[in-house]
Amino acid sequence: MATRLQAARLLTLDAADRLDGGERCDLEAGMAKLFASEAAMRIALDAVRIHGAAGYSTEFDVERYFRDAPLMIVGEGTNEIQRNVIVRQLIDRHRLR
Ligand SMILES: Cc1cc2nc3c(=O)[nH]c(=O)nc-3n(C[C@H](O)[C@H](O)[C@H](O)COP(=O)(O)OP(=O)(O)OC[C@H]3O[C@@H](n4cnc5c(N)ncnc54)[C@H](O)[C@@H]3O)c2cc1C
Repeated sequence: MATRLQAARLLTLDAADRLDGGERCDLEAGMAKLFASEAAMRIALDAVRIHGAAGYSTEFDVERYFRDAPLMIVGEGTNEIQRNVIVRQLIDRHRLR
């Protein structure tokens, strides 16, 4: 879980660095959004499982994270669309000359 979280952070910081440097970051931002939101879903599920039945209870924060995570996958450009953005950028950047 910590490894996924750290990887998501680093992808996000890489995209932000490029943007701060005045570069376009469609590819990097798409990768960061895709990876981070899928990581959020997986981490939230793992957290619910670790808590057992308590993970299903509204008394604990993990229940909220598990409800919120799917929105990250669908909102702000669904992850299917992010995959389309990523592949278009890859083809564009690595076009055979
Ligand atoms: C709780 C919640 C809050 C939201 N808040 C906001 C908000 O604040 N602002 C805002 O603008 N929007 C918001 N949305 C809308 C969200 O961005 C859209 O739901 C999302 O863009 C998908 O659009 P759609 O629901 O019309 O699904 P559709 O476009 O009908 O897509 C349905 C499915 O088909 C897939 N799909 C569609 N086209 C393609 C394609 N070309 N290739 C591959 N797969 C494809 C999609 O990825 C999706 O899985 C919110 C949604 C939810 C659930």
